[in-house]
Amino acid sequence: MERIDCFPVPIFHDNLAWCFPTGPSSVAVVDPGDGLPVARALTARDLTVSHVLITHHHRDHSGGVEVLGRRWNPVLVGPANEDTPIPGMDLTLAGDCTFQAGGQLCQVMQVPGHTRGHVAYLVGNLLFAGDTLFSIGCGRVFEGSPEQMWASLCKLRSLPDSTELLCGHEYTLQNIAFALSLDPGNEALLAFRQECEARLRQAPTVLPSPLGREKLLNPFLRCDEPLVARLLGLEGAAPEKVFRMMRQEKDRF
Ligand SMILES: [Zn+2]
Repeated sequence: MERIDCFPVPIFHDNLAWCFPTGPSSVAVVDPGDGLPVARALTARDLTVSHVLITHHHRDHSGGVEVLGRRWNPVLVGPANEDTPIPGMDLTLAGDCTFQAGGQLCQVMQVPGHTRGHVAYLVGNLLFAGDTLFSIGCGRVFEGSPEQMWASLCKLRSLPDSTELLCGHEYTLQNIAFALSLDPGNEALLAFRQECEARLRQAPTVLPSPLGREKLLNPFLRCDEPLVARLLGLEGAAPEKVFRMMRQEKDRF
């Protein structure tokens, strides 16, 4: 598969707006929570915005739509099933479907849980997961149920190991701290923490993270492993129950 070059624009404290090419001098922007830093970064690179892709209605992901819309008049794409509709969308996505953003075919995956209509976008091997899946973590369950969120995580987990995970926030170190609180002796997590600390001294994010690594190290993707159920004192419990308790513990962490 052809490698697609994408790059992040850091916004606010820890949000990431991701840009990928749709033509020789145009990009699609995923989750621009703030339009000004994105416009500045793209202008500096002589790029224009052809498409804006929103994963969910939270303003720290969608708040930059007006600024980018006025500047470049891009096609605005977002979820259809949100409790709070996102104004001004040209294309709303009600089911799993595909659409074309310039030269890129974008595959839409409905992943409810963080919000009711949350979608993820798969473009080549790039997975823009918004606030559903983070490196070594997952989003809070605000509007959906834990069962729904677990099903959404399983859906993302079913993608190939070579898929590159790109998230709406850089939360990796906090997530590793929580994962190690469950599983303090996990050597692979300890090694990954060291790698992340070094990388974050040079760059605003450690992402992308290969999904193959997430399947091995992200506790929220491992709720159906007996070892993980045991770490939570839930030996033999259904994965939904393990997920629910893990998420509750993370909310209090
Ligand atoms: Zn959110």
